[in-house]
Amino acid sequence: MNKKILLIEDEEKIARFTELELKHEGYEVAKAFNGRDGLAMAETEEFDLVLLDIMLPELNGLEVLRRIRKFSDMPVIMLTARDAVMDKVSGLDAGADDYITKPFAIEELLARIRVVFKKRGADRSDFGHAFNKDTPKLSAKGVTLDEERHEVMCQGEEIELTHREYELLKTLLQNKNIVLDREKLLNMVCGYDYIGETNIIDVYVRYLRTKIDDRFGIKLISTIRGVGYAIKDENRQEKKSAEGGSKNETE
Ligand code: CA
Repeated sequence: MNKKILLIEDEEKIARFTELELKHEGYEVAKAFNGRDGLAMAETEEFDLVLLDIMLPELNGLEVLRRIRKFSDMPVIMLTARDAVMDKVSGLDAGADDYITKPFAIEELLARIRVVFKKRGADRSDFGHAFNKDTPKLSAKGVTLDEERHEVMCQGEEIELTHREYELLKTLLQNKNIVLDREKLLNMVCGYDYIGETNIIDVYVRYLRTKIDDRFGIKLISTIRGVGYAIKDENRQEKKSAEGGSKNETE
């Protein structure tokens, strides 16, 4: 499968040229022309790499990077202006994998992209073989979440989730048989300074139910009316604190 790259760059000429070259190399490319749109795309879709300009309208590149790092460790290469040393340092501090100075030769960009992929791939297999060989998977009701592989399976089939759906499911599985209220879930899934309505959690629960419950005919996430959500696994007797649980359970 082709690797998918998200290019966030407001200078249209650079964006178009870079896109063409990347496609020529066999990458899939999605483009955003300002920080806010770019962030929204990174939130809703999984990319193998983000190329992120620093000087962007709406939301600057460093801020976009900081926000991406709250929900994902997808590789990010910053595109910086020549000699903007502070930008490079701040970018790396904020979790960028690398940076490249504009104007750049496309060969240099392609080389850096390959290095990032190789490095990330090596890190992953190092961890896999040396440390996490037997990482227990999270599971309930036939749904398993493999953190190491970032993979969710049910009945032998893989379930494709967005970052936030994945994080929400992971949080609920890690807290199996514990009722979590919307605010707590929002903090855990979106970060403490997320500005938004807690009913966004309801939206993500609905997405998860469509992708899991409806598809596989199971009832994974329980709504605890007036409280929040929980994944209850009857197979386990380890009922921890089920504050307000059991009563008022609905669909
Ligand atoms: Ca720019």
